[in-house]
Formats: sequence, structure tokens, C-alpha cells
Amino acid sequence: MNTNVAPQTNFRNVVPTANASGGRRWLYPRSITGRFTRWRTIVAVVLLVALFAGPFVWVDGHPLFMFNVLERRFIFFGVPFWPQDFYLVAIGLVTFIVFIALFTVVYGRVWCGWACPQTIFMEMVFRKIEVWIEGDSNARMRLDASPWTTEKIWKKGLKHGVFFLISFMISNTFLAYLIGRDQWLLLITDDPAKHIAGLSSMLVFTGVFYLVFARLREIVCTTICPYGRLQGVLLDKNSLIVAYDFIRGEPRGKKERGNAGVAGRMASIVNDTTHPAIPALPAFPAHKGDCIDCKLCVQVCPMGIDIRNGTQLECVNCTLCMDACDDIMTKIDRPQGLIRMDSLRGIEEGKPFRFTSRIKAYSIALLALLSILGFLLISRPVIDVTVLRAPGQLFQREANNKVSNLYLIEVVNKTYRTLPVSFRLNRPDAQLTFVQPLTQVPAGELTKSMFFISLPEKAIHENSTPLQIDVLAGNKVVEQIKTTFLGPVKP
Ligand code: SF4
Ligand code: SF4
Repeated sequence: MNTNVAPQTNFRNVVPTANASGGRRWLYPRSITGRFTRWRTIVAVVLLVALFAGPFVWVDGHPLFMFNVLERRFIFFGVPFWPQDFYLVAIGLVTFIVFIALFTVVYGRVWCGWACPQTIFMEMVFRKIEVWIEGDSNARMRLDASPWTTEKIWKKGLKHGVFFLISFMISNTFLAYLIGRDQWLLLITDDPAKHIAGLSSMLVFTGVFYLVFARLREIVCTTICPYGRLQGVLLDKNSLIVAYDFIRGEPRGKKERGNAGVAGRMASIVNDTTHPAIPALPAFPAHKGDCIDCKLCVQVCPMGIDIRNGTQLECVNCTLCMDACDDIMTKIDRPQGLIRMDSLRGIEEGKPFRFTSRIKAYSIALLALLSILGFLLISRPVIDVTVLRAPGQLFQREANNKVSNLYLIEVVNKTYRTLPVSFRLNRPDAQLTFVQPLTQVPAGELTKSMFFISLPEKAIHENSTPLQIDVLAGNKVVEQIKTTFLGPVKP
């Protein structure tokens, strides 16, 4: 960052949300409209509808999303996942983290400002309600500073009542994601005495969401969220960020008659009399940049920062300052984009956005991980079978000169339909007999059973004979299980 152009040099010594004595400095961001805010509103509405509808959208009789942590059942885009698929979740998480890192290196914190539920709820729901009830920045400041009149009690009561109601809605949606639509419906319609734990969680979640949006607010982004804290290591000079063009904007100051910023400076250069071939342009004073120091970009910032000091950890790329500054530039008849999406290098050197070797390395890693994840998802068996030897048992001799071993079997049907199953051993002289017949496994359930494998005693030539069990769903082999058979070796 070019430090010569930042008149405020102590900005990194103070936290925007703390006052001189270290207490909380409450922020009163000013409302603004503009093309980016309009686009953000559209994106927010789409995401909010998707978020609230998520647990209630069912396809073919099954939810599109469910994250039932208690029963360890997960449905993602209609595909059910079981604890046995945990390796897929682990690979998915690694892929997600690398994706986030790559995305941030290239596009900065676009996620934070445009798609993060915290920002969307805070700026597009709770802040709007606050402005609707208490008024814009100055009105809110005056209201907070005023004594407790009937009007203040009414406004504060109404605001916090609505905040609590919305927190309650978010809490219910959150619960519906966790336990599924039907369980949630039961929770709110059944006898409350039977659902003390569920209803208590609902109230706890409501309280947490209320605390986050009524009190914590921007502190979540600056202090609690790990992603925000990672920005310092993820961003580089080529990352796309919300950036102030200090080359064009500085030295800042009130616009004077005849000052045309860069145009003025350009005119001074062009009017060099050593180039008589260049026609003289009207004289412009060359001592001011395009920033008129109106501070509107600071007043609208929900994080309380001044983007003119350079990119900062607090900036969530919400683009509100871009709209504010574009509005000012239009009014003073200067080109928009004094604050814009650009890289620091782009602003310093006027170079276009380019792919760095770090971005290329991240892209290759991401592609490899996505390919592995895709392959594992496609090749994921529809049935998961676990076979274990019955504990405390070696082998049993049978009357017909046979030896048998007892096994426990668990079969998980990961599909939404009941599947017929059969089992086949890789040795014709081995026989598999179930204690209770297992011919089909119900949809989405875990089925447990026991079976014996018997071998003629004369066919046993080692203490532990390797065996393979083919598991068939219909005529298709869906899994092959390797196990061992214990028996006495004939001398
Ligand atoms: S809104 Fe634009 S002109 Fe006003 S202070 Fe910010 S950067 Fe300068
Ligand atoms: S500096 Fe601009 S983009 Fe960053 S948080 Fe503040 S208003 Fe949003």
C-alpha cells in the first residue's frame, strides 16, 4: 500500500468498534442505494428464500436437505449420506476449504458481503427493520442518546420484539434442517411435555440468533469468524477486493472551482510548453484528487472502517462504499469507480487482473480434489456391508464332519427403495446359512443379522482360511467382503 497517500496513519492502532476506553463503539451505518445494493438485494432475496425453503422442499417423498447430527443422517441435494460415508464428508470438507482459499485469493471476500448468512441477515433483514422502526443513521443516534420517553420505549420494544420473532423463525428453520421437517412438525404440534429437550434447544438457538443480530453484529465478522481472521494470509496484491483508487483520489480535499482531479493533472502535463504541437488546454489547478473527503463511504460502512486507508481485515466486500462513492462522483461530474472492485496491483500499476502462480497451484489442487470427490460419489456403493466374526467364538464342529464359524453382519441400504440381497461365497464347498433369513434390506435402514459359514473339515488346510463373500443386489454384485474362516488343520 502506498503509505504516502493515507493521511490517517494510525488507523491500524484502533479497532473501529471500540471507543477510546476500550468499550463498544456502537455503529450507525447510513442507508444507501445504488446498483450494487440493488444486485445484493436480489441475491439476498434468492438466498433467503432458498434457506428458509430448504428443509421443507421434498423430492420423491424425501427432503432435499437434512443434517440430522443426532441420528447421523445427512441428505445433500436429495442424496442420503450415512456415517459410513464419512470419508466422503472429510474429502468434501477439504475440497471446500481449498475452494474457499482459492476463491478468496482470486475474488477476495465476495462471499462475506454477498452470500454469508450472517451478512445477509444482518444487513438485509435486521438492519432494514432497524431503519424502518428507528430511522436512518442520525435518527438512531439521537434516539439512543435521548432519555427513555414513551416513544423510545415503544420503538425499542417493537424493534427487539420483531428481532426476537425473526430469530425464532431462523431457529425453527435451523432445527428443521437438523431434525427434518416431520420431526420439527411433531415438535411444534405435539404435547410440549414430551419434547422438553427439543423445545429448549429451540429457545437456546433463538437466544443465540437474537444475541448475534441484536448485539454482536459486526463483531462476528471481525473477531469470531475464522474466515475473516484468515484474510491476512489469503489475500495478495492480485486479489480482487473493494479498493479505493488512491492514485486518482489523492490528495483528497473539498472540490474547488476548476479542480478536475486527474483530468487537471493530465491537463498540466499536456500543457507543457515544450510540446508546441499539442494545443493548449484550459488551465486546471493540479493539487487535488477526485476524493472530496465527504466521508460518505465511511458513514455507510457497516464495519465502521475507512476504505481509503487500504484493504482491512474488517472489510466484508459489501460494496456499500462503492455505491456511496459512485453517487458522489456522479454529483460532482466525475467518472464512477473511485472505489471499485480491483486488485491493489491493478490500482498501483494500472495492470489488468492476471493469474498468479499461487492461483494456478490452488486451481490444480482444487481440480484434483473435485475429481477424486466426484469419482468417489459416483462409485459409492448403494449398500454398505460390515461382517465381523462373533466375539468370543472360534469354530464349532458339526455332526457331518463339517466345521462352522459364526459371523455378525450389518447391511446399510443407502437408497430410497427396498433392495433384494443375496450372498455368494467364492468356494463351492463352503456353505452360508443365515440364522434369520436376510433376503432384502429396507430403504435407508441399517439391518443386522447373523450367519454361519461351514466348510468340510478335510478342506481346511490352515488355521485361518481366507474367504470372499459377494453381496448381490438383484443380479449385480454391489460389494465384496473379505473375511477369514477359523478351523482345525488336519495333520
Ligand atoms: S465517498 Fe468517495 S469522495 Fe467521498 S470520501 Fe469516500 S472516497 Fe472520497
Ligand atoms: S469498506 Fe466498503 S466494502 Fe468494505 S465493509 Fe465497508 S462499506 Fe463494505
